[in-house]
Amino acid sequence: MLNLDFHPSGRHFLQIPGPSPVPDRILRAMSLPTIDHRGPEFGALGREILGKIKKVFKTRNPVIIYPASGTGAWEAALINTLSPGDQVLMFETGHFATLWQKMARRLGLEPEFIGLPGYEGWRHGVQADMIETRLKQDGDHRIKAVCVVHNETSTGVTSDIAAVRRAIDAAGHPALLLVDTISGLASADYRHDEWGVDVTISGSQKGLMLPPGISFNAISDKAIAASKTALLPKSFWAWDEILESNQNGYWPYTPSTNLLYGLNESLDMLLEEGFEHVFARHQRWGAGVRTAVEAWGLEIQCLEPAVYSPVLTGVVMPEGVDADAVRKIIYERFDLSLGAGLGKAKGRMFRIGHLGDCNDLTLIATLGGCEAGMKLAGVELASSGVTEALDYFANHTLENAK
Ligand SMILES: *Cc1c(COP(=O)(O)O)cnc(C)c1O
Repeated sequence: MLNLDFHPSGRHFLQIPGPSPVPDRILRAMSLPTIDHRGPEFGALGREILGKIKKVFKTRNPVIIYPASGTGAWEAALINTLSPGDQVLMFETGHFATLWQKMARRLGLEPEFIGLPGYEGWRHGVQADMIETRLKQDGDHRIKAVCVVHNETSTGVTSDIAAVRRAIDAAGHPALLLVDTISGLASADYRHDEWGVDVTISGSQKGLMLPPGISFNAISDKAIAASKTALLPKSFWAWDEILESNQNGYWPYTPSTNLLYGLNESLDMLLEEGFEHVFARHQRWGAGVRTAVEAWGLEIQCLEPAVYSPVLTGVVMPEGVDADAVRKIIYERFDLSLGAGLGKAKGRMFRIGHLGDCNDLTLIATLGGCEAGMKLAGVELASSGVTEALDYFANHTLENAK
């Protein structure tokens, strides 16, 4: 009897914008036996990782590594630097900015959530001039931090972090700058020191190509100073004990040993390839995927070409089409996972991840699954996006992709 249950063969297409596909080289590194996290071998590994991780954030300062998802590192950034009732200025770019804002409120902070009116903000990046205007009104410096998401994973829009730094400086305001680049790091250009960021938050399962489970705080001297007087309760997340243990390559509690093996391998892969190459590869994939969306005659969620995300593309469905129903068909028929529309974007669009361990042909197959699935769902397409994307990839090398 033919079994009609779902028994996929070959590899699942994990084209959500995180977790991203984990390369075999990393999976093999993680399969080694777990070692004593207080032994000398571990100390050497810890010191090596803590040195190399700084290069990804482009910082000379320490980077804290937590055995937690990205959400934990969000919390760590807020509670290490702020006190109960502190005002924080947060910018609404999408669902992740919204969740971070909710967290700030739950922690006893007073977030002020600004952004473009209505749904507009979910189709644009940060508006640094709005931050500058608001900070200039805050003459007695009650705002203690400005929080921005660098790569808004719910929409496929990046934000210009250097511009936010300039806005804070132009206002002559002492607020800390906290930035979430959970999905941007190691796929999109990011510069913690040069952009004057005080705390950068990231996670393992996106550009770093690891499974979920570790996350990061890169910290400035100003953030470390703030952590000494900040009064929100903290223990597990407190930087001071971690920094002290890290000096010898250890952690105050049991770290995620096998994920750290994977991180060490991921850092080697990225450093061997070189960040310029990694970023160019993602830019080119983004351009190829957008070529397909345009050929389909569909809208891209991001309305500002200057801030298209190199990590993912949000594909807007025509009026009356439920994006989740389309995704369901694509998943069931082609074993391909796409990102759902989140929050205000639920049902309106789906997201194609093009980050980490992909290549031209996995993306062509992904676009093939999207195209066939949309046709099955009755979405009218202007022309074949797969054909256009294939031409784009055939005719553009990393050098001539813009
Ligand atoms: C994935 C993601 C998060 C949440 O991270 P978790 O690991 O799911 O806790 C937060 N912000 C952004 C921008 C993300 O992409």
